[in-house]
Amino acid sequence: MSIFYDTHAHLDYDDYKADFADVLVRAQAAGITKIISIATDLDSSRRALALAEKHEMIFAAVGWHPGNAHAAPADIRAELRELARHPKAVAIGECGLDYYRLPSSQGGSAEDDARYKQKQAENFRQQLEVAAETGLNCVIHQRRSFDDTFAQIQPFTQKTRGVFHCFGESVERLQKILELGWLVSYTGIVTFKNGQNIRDAVAATPLDRFMLETDCPYLAPVPYRGKRCEPAFVKEISETAAQVKRCSLDELSAATCRTAHDFFPKLT
Ligand SMILES: [Zn+2]
Repeated sequence: MSIFYDTHAHLDYDDYKADFADVLVRAQAAGITKIISIATDLDSSRRALALAEKHEMIFAAVGWHPGNAHAAPADIRAELRELARHPKAVAIGECGLDYYRLPSSQGGSAEDDARYKQKQAENFRQQLEVAAETGLNCVIHQRRSFDDTFAQIQPFTQKTRGVFHCFGESVERLQKILELGWLVSYTGIVTFKNGQNIRDAVAATPLDRFMLETDCPYLAPVPYRGKRCEPAFVKEISETAAQVKRCSLDELSAATCRTAHDFFPKLT
């Protein structure tokens, strides 16, 4: 059986409270031997680290999701730096910009939008700084904000690296990321009937420049689409990715695991 890693899972969510042990057993049975639990705020970072302390196969990314940035303290750097020192904190994130639900889409004003974006940008910059200081790489979340996200990472491209997770953009945008030496990762969307654009992006990504992830509990691949997603389903994602790359599962396993160890040096 080929081995794969789930490089982006939200194991600290309540979705897994009832059957957490079974979720890990099913992951291992499917050949998924390492899981990175991605934080969405500082409490979530602490929960991810607690899971990592308890379970050998779990590692953590510590950070603050842009969708929660409005609730962030003015400066998270000191606490984040401290969390990043943990031996199983393998990355900063997820961090970035998310313009999917702007205040103006819910009755707010243009000024509300500007303030909302400003808070996200400030929160993102702090995390890029901590990544650069601590030598960790970043898990980047962007939604409907590619240009601003790409502009904001420019001062940091030599100081840290990022993976644009759940990549779903054009091949042209993919090339811009790869030119920086940064990476992308692909979720279950790659298996969706309407996911041809994602499969085109996978086809255009060199075998050694991407990782696999579930983003669970979201985005369960076919045939589980619409159900709760879990790390075991990286198996289905890997099967589609191998078809698109016209390579064997063993080749895909070797390439994506090597890329993950290179990108997350504290992943052991
Ligand atoms: Zn996520």
